[in-house]
Amino acid sequence: MKIGIFGGTFNPPHNTHVGMAVEAVKQLGLDSLFVIPCGDPPHKSCDVDKATRLELCRLAFEGVAAVDEYEINKSGKSYTVETLSHYKRLYPKAELYLVIGGDSLLGFDKWYKPEQIAKLCTLAVVDRGGSTPVESLREVTRKFGAKVVTLQTEPTSVSSTEIRLRYEFGMNNSELVPKDVDDYVLNNGLYSTYRAMAQKVKQYVTPRRFEHTFYVVKRGQELARDELKNKAFVACLLHDVAKSVPQSDYGKYRFTQGDLPDSVVHSFLGKYVAQQDFGIDDPEILDAITFHTTGRPDMSELEKIVYVADKTEDTRPYPLEHLKRGTLEDQFVACLKEAYQVCLERHCDSLCPLSELTVRRYCAKDFGLQPLVAESLQQEENKKK
Ligand code: ATP
Repeated sequence: MKIGIFGGTFNPPHNTHVGMAVEAVKQLGLDSLFVIPCGDPPHKSCDVDKATRLELCRLAFEGVAAVDEYEINKSGKSYTVETLSHYKRLYPKAELYLVIGGDSLLGFDKWYKPEQIAKLCTLAVVDRGGSTPVESLREVTRKFGAKVVTLQTEPTSVSSTEIRLRYEFGMNNSELVPKDVDDYVLNNGLYSTYRAMAQKVKQYVTPRRFEHTFYVVKRGQELARDELKNKAFVACLLHDVAKSVPQSDYGKYRFTQGDLPDSVVHSFLGKYVAQQDFGIDDPEILDAITFHTTGRPDMSELEKIVYVADKTEDTRPYPLEHLKRGTLEDQFVACLKEAYQVCLERHCDSLCPLSELTVRRYCAKDFGLQPLVAESLQQEENKKK
């Protein structure tokens, strides 16, 4: 007897999840497949309660797989090894298959008790748009003695994260999630915390700028720690809100351009638009909007997130991979260096004094500049007074 187990947060379940379930049953010749939404995921925070995710799974996998409440009803964290042991107790003679995406396999050594998982089941891996290097398959076999099979499916890079964002932005998801899931989400107002704000932003910017904003928010969510995700969402959503505000409206916001170069005005003006028209009063968010073009010495984590997200969102028409390596700090410095280099080459007007101070603070040596240390920062401040 062959039993498949397919666990996940399913927030929400999408068509690729359903396709994986269908293919697992077919290609592995499973007698039963159990979809197991997790209760309290050990590796990510979850804003939608477990009863709702359970209901979404029932709607999504109707007629394809049985949805099991085991992890939902369990108290504490949901560990895969415990779920597998539970199934082993229920079906001692069965061969167990754990259906997972290739991205999950990459972090397999960080799972709780990976050796024991490897003993209890065969891993049935689905490629996630090129995210499963053969190396990592070999690695889990070599290191943990895991039995691994790959399922042949059309790879997609769709994720629940992106779908949640699409709902927040009021986009159509009928091609990405089963119809009943889509109806449930819309009828029950799931994933709509920022929908009104996003719709308002849409009225302020061009369609292309709105698309860019979507991808900046997406990238910001990838970069932000759980504690900063909400602020990052709002700051990224509003970062370019002043891009199309005409000069004739500056007075309405009591904003004067002063000697700010044209190309950075929108970020400084953005703070006033966010305050006045969107009611934002959080200084961290307002600063992250203000300094997303120039940077400034001693930037906060949120400021760096918006700066990097803006430079590395998926639709930027230049190579990005080298900018997306390492920690947030690494990515921030890489983006800053590249932006400054490009400006030097093109004599951009955004080479304003503040950008230069930022470069001197974070990567002076790369450009043969005088490093900006705490004392010289103070001197610069004093000069301004
Ligand atoms: P999130 O974006 O919230 O992290 P997710 O789309 O990865 O969610 P989960 O519920 O975490 O969805 O996924 C359950 C399982 O399905 C995981 O093993 C995950 O790797 C796999 N999976 C999800 N989407 C894909 C995909 N596009 N291709 C292959 N596997 C996928």
